[in-house]
Amino acid sequence: TYDVLVLGGGPAGAAAAIYAARKGIRTGLVAERFGGQVMDTVGIENFISVPYTEGPKLAAGLEQHVKEYGVDIITGQRAAQVSRGDLVEVALESGATLKARSLILATGARWRELGVPGEAQYRTKGVAYCPHCDGPFFKGKKVAVIGGGNSGIEAAIDLAGIVEHVTVLEFADTLRADEVLVKKARSLGNVDIITNAQTTEVLGDGSKVNGLAYKDRVSGKDKQLELAGIFVQIGLVPNTEFLKESGIELTRFGEVIIDAKGATSMAGVFAAGDATTVPYKQIVISMGAGATAALSAFDHLIRS
Ligand code: FAD
Repeated sequence: TYDVLVLGGGPAGAAAAIYAARKGIRTGLVAERFGGQVMDTVGIENFISVPYTEGPKLAAGLEQHVKEYGVDIITGQRAAQVSRGDLVEVALESGATLKARSLILATGARWRELGVPGEAQYRTKGVAYCPHCDGPFFKGKKVAVIGGGNSGIEAAIDLAGIVEHVTVLEFADTLRADEVLVKKARSLGNVDIITNAQTTEVLGDGSKVNGLAYKDRVSGKDKQLELAGIFVQIGLVPNTEFLKESGIELTRFGEVIIDAKGATSMAGVFAAGDATTVPYKQIVISMGAGATAALSAFDHLIRS
């Protein structure tokens, strides 16, 4: 039986495990893949106090730091179910069950992908998912934002201040973003918005993106844009499918609902990072949230 069991080995899970272990309590960490989304990131320029690092390097640092403490690390395993009796029980897909006095959910999220030819090939070579992270790499260049919801239009406004030109492509005939954002985007001289546009292919020269192909859904015509970057903003999907039956409250998007202390609706269960309702999904934010969740779990343990 663990005092604190952490699910997830990204920035949130690693921070939670370190904070818990430093209290001298029995801590376990289960992760399908240590490092999480950080492993898919090339350049990181907003990890404060480290002007530049790369995903795999930061992920190795997370793992090394967790290993400094006596954390029981189980990788290559996925949680399949969470339930609560006297203790919190986590069933793994392998069939094993782990028990803990408190649980920290830090299973992160994944960007919804376009699923068109070229997207996978040019991922991190022009195809990007995080404007806060990768926007500055496209300074002075032309980019597209795919998706006309709030995140897409926010991204377009954000990028318009950095890049030469932004084209927003929305599949539907209208933008789903809030009117105030749409108005702001339309007021910018270097932002074009195209609706009824179905992105069909990411084009490149073999080493990086140089364009995008889309179909005009009204005329049926195939069109192309010349550009250096494509920001895919069609949704962030929390890795919380395994919690659907747990009774832990999720939003309709699947985010774990947490309070300011990281507490979920289930006693003794806390959550942190991209899997939760935390505003803004970033490495530094996830780490802070992981620390909060661990301190709250410890507080729960000394009171129960
Ligand atoms: P994640 O990093 O998603 O980690 C989730 C962990 O949970 C993983 O270990 C995963 O294997 C595990 N897991 C998932 N499901 C299960 C399960 N059922 N059972 C067991 N384990 C499970 N942020 C920045 O601040 N700066 C950047 O430059 C930056 N660039 C980015 C670039 C890309 C391409 C991407 C995709 C994201 C980027 N981000 C960046 C965002 C940042 O990576 C995330 O905000 C951060 O990793 C979230 O941390 P997390 O620990 O909550 O989740």
